[in-house]
Amino acid sequence: MTTTETKQLPVPSRLLINGAWQSGSAGTFADVNPATEEVIADVQAASADDVDSAVRAARTAFEGEWSRVSGADRARLLHRVADLLERDAERLAWLETIDVGKPLAQAAALDIPNAIATFRHFAGWADKIPGSVIETNGYFGRPMHSYTRREPVGVVGAITPWNTPLMIAGWKLAPALAAGNTLVVKPPEDAPLTTLHLAELMLEAGIPAGVVNVVPGLGETAGAALVAHPDVDKISFTGSPEVGRTIQIAAAGTFKRLVLELGGKSPQIILGDADVQAAIQGAAMGLFFNQGEVCAAGTRILVHRSLYDEVVDGLVAAAKAQVVGDPLAPSTTMGALINARQRDRVLSYVDVARAEGATVAAGGERPGGKGYFVQPTVFTDATNEMRVAQEEIFGPVGAVIPFDDVDEAVKIANATQYGLAATIWTRDVSTAHTVAASVRAGAVSVNGWATMDPALPWGGMKTSGVGRELGLSGLLANTEEKTVSIVL
Ligand code: NAD
Repeated sequence: MTTTETKQLPVPSRLLINGAWQSGSAGTFADVNPATEEVIADVQAASADDVDSAVRAARTAFEGEWSRVSGADRARLLHRVADLLERDAERLAWLETIDVGKPLAQAAALDIPNAIATFRHFAGWADKIPGSVIETNGYFGRPMHSYTRREPVGVVGAITPWNTPLMIAGWKLAPALAAGNTLVVKPPEDAPLTTLHLAELMLEAGIPAGVVNVVPGLGETAGAALVAHPDVDKISFTGSPEVGRTIQIAAAGTFKRLVLELGGKSPQIILGDADVQAAIQGAAMGLFFNQGEVCAAGTRILVHRSLYDEVVDGLVAAAKAQVVGDPLAPSTTMGALINARQRDRVLSYVDVARAEGATVAAGGERPGGKGYFVQPTVFTDATNEMRVAQEEIFGPVGAVIPFDDVDEAVKIANATQYGLAATIWTRDVSTAHTVAASVRAGAVSVNGWATMDPALPWGGMKTSGVGRELGLSGLLANTEEKTVSIVL
């Protein structure tokens, strides 16, 4: 692919079912560039019938050719996908940037490399699916040889969000394929392009027809049809708690296996002995990276009272130093929010904060001109009870809250319905472990915000979700455990 081809339209905008690109029977939807408000593509939308065709193709592939592909061959295919992602990394970063509005530098530094690393990680697992031999009491006086096998769940429905679409598609596809499943993927209607490009790479890599099907479309039609489909064995969903709840209820009818990766309101706890400059830098990253459209965004900055003024000054300076604008420009550090609705929702919290008695210490406005931009915003004089400290805003907005001792910090950190991630800033190794153990969150980072890796399990407690993806846990979540006993 030449550099000119790398950054060219048209982009893939159809459904992939059983190895063939086709039109959807639910019309089209407009995919908009959030930074320019221009339509990038009219994408074909899947209907419930299209989803049914995709599920049938996935079922046929699961029971047919794919079931005979060895773990070693699945590993080879996943490595090939990773190779092709590496080859097309520049185009993928560009596609993610025009589709999501995020800075190109961030897409190139995180989204694409993380997707590649995820395929490589799970390629390594594909021929190492573990089982175990278990000693028992025997069977009516006779000895018994018992063991467990891990078998694929079957047809997995993957439903993904718009903030990091390729990365999260990788989190669902790579472990599911490594374990021998087939998939129907419903990409986000606000940003489907990189998932569709990934689908092209799946075909090029030689993944057999029907193993990966992609059905762009609206959540309430294509997504809901996938969740309701009786022949889908598992739904892996990443998105909002509201939709997650709907899915959990809808999936109950057919007893689907579920992994739900939902929202967060994650604390960043800056303890009195922290390296304060590192903490300010990390806290600012946790607020403004990807325009704050990050499930693990560290939007509650809990600061020891002795450092409060210094941290507030540092965060205000960091907010003012953000370069907000054209996501394709190399100097840009913050791009546009995904759509006008999200921009207006984020801005509405500025009024909420003021009405609740918080101070807008930085930002709070929308810059002029085209695009769904919002200034990086810091609320001070905030308490943990305020809506700005309790509700997921999903924009470059955070509240700074003081505490007096470690116990109070942990209490505030846990006083939320969410439990996705937490960051602790301290120089004391013992405090680090103690606080890490006390915080109710699925992933705790010490002295660095959002320390994710494909080898590390990821998922939330409480409203932040059900189940885990990535790492060995993510692999096993794509299997059923079968017990076999042989009476000797
Ligand atoms: P969303 O819930 O609006 O949409 C997510 C996906 O669900 C989209 O593909 C959408 O089309 C689909 N959908 C919508 N209604 C549906 C229905 N009734 N049935 C089936 N599918 C349906 O979320 P979003 O706005 O795209 O993403 C933002 C949310 O995602 C935030 O809450 C964020 O915290 C969360 N998120 C979580 C993680 C995590 O790992 N925990 C990662 C990224 C984003």
